[in-house]
Amino acid sequence: MRIVVKVGTSTLTHATGRMDIRHVETLCKVLSDIKNAGHEVVLVSSGAIGMGVGKLNLTQRPSDMPTKQAAAAVGQCELMYVYDKLFASYNHTVAQILLTGEDLRDDVRHRNFANTLQRLLELGALPVINENDTVSTDEIAVGDNDTLGALVAVSVKADLLIVLSDIDGLYTADPRHDPSARLIPEVREITPEMDAGAGGGGTALSTGGMHTKLIAARICMDAGTDMVILNGSRPALLYDILDGQAVGTRFIGRKNT
Ligand code: GLU
Repeated sequence: MRIVVKVGTSTLTHATGRMDIRHVETLCKVLSDIKNAGHEVVLVSSGAIGMGVGKLNLTQRPSDMPTKQAAAAVGQCELMYVYDKLFASYNHTVAQILLTGEDLRDDVRHRNFANTLQRLLELGALPVINENDTVSTDEIAVGDNDTLGALVAVSVKADLLIVLSDIDGLYTADPRHDPSARLIPEVREITPEMDAGAGGGGTALSTGGMHTKLIAARICMDAGTDMVILNGSRPALLYDILDGQAVGTRFIGRKNT
């Protein structure tokens, strides 16, 4: 299978902006093992700005563009350094790809990206993709990595997009506030109630939340690609997904019959 795994800042870093070593190490180990089993893996990873905040000892996520872009420049290095080190310990080679929304909207640039990614997979590398935050401004950005993950998954005709989150999946209500909230195992149609329940999102360091995950799910479903939301604090659940078990919330891509 060809899978795109999207991992967010809330999985990769602690609230301090420093790396969550346990999560990152487990994730790299499981993804390496999945590659060893013969699957193709593309990682869409956030965490550049979050890690930059930690490395630069900033007290909070910056709100102004130059500081955000500076933090991303520092954090992206740190991120790739860590991925390179951890994946190399399992004999896997990482490749960095940084994109803006423009790169995906422009036909020629999109084709170049798709060709390079295809070649990297043929060469057995593990592409790690992020938004090119140091040059991305609001006008040209994809904006969030859930959407970026979906656009990448559709572009490379992935069998599955797995979005690792800080929650087990999509719930009927916010489980942090409502004890009667139930996990929804499968979604074939995103209803207005789901949209309304998704609210805004993100934590102090990250952008996403459930809202952007539903945007990503729509992109995937419309293109016929399945998407699963899983809890990123338990990367071993990725094995269950590949074993065909129902974990997290699976959004079923529309199949043309
Ligand atoms: N590209 C941003 C980063 O690496 C994150 C965007 C997102 O998480 O949606 O920090």
